[in-house]
This record gives sequence, C-alpha cells and structure tokens, in this order.
Amino acid sequence: MTTLTCVECEGEVEAAADVMVAEILECPDCGAELEIVSLDPVTIELAPEVEEDWGE
Ligand SMILES: [Zn+2]
Repeated sequence: MTTLTCVECEGEVEAAADVMVAEILECPDCGAELEIVSLDPVTIELAPEVEEDWGE
C-alpha cells in the first residue's frame, strides 16, 4: 500500500502496491480523479476530465 497526497485537497489517497501507470484513483476526501503518471516514485496528477459515456 502506498499513500499519496491528493493534488486537489492534499488529503491522503491510498494506492495498492501494484498500481499501474494510467490507473485512476479517486480521492476519498474531495472525489477528485487522480491518474497515476509515474511509478518510481509513484506520482499522481489530476485526471483530465472526460465526458462519461456509458453507452446508453
Ligand atoms: Zn482530494
């Protein structure tokens, strides 16, 4: 388990030990979507906002 700092609210975000680049985490505090952009060290950035398309 890796603890990261949310770029939006600076709250703690937990990532699994086996996270992969491009994986999206959601901040439990503010709900921001955070994308893993690097693994060594693990770095997150605010995920680009994309329109959700659930194929309705
Ligand atoms: Zn946050």
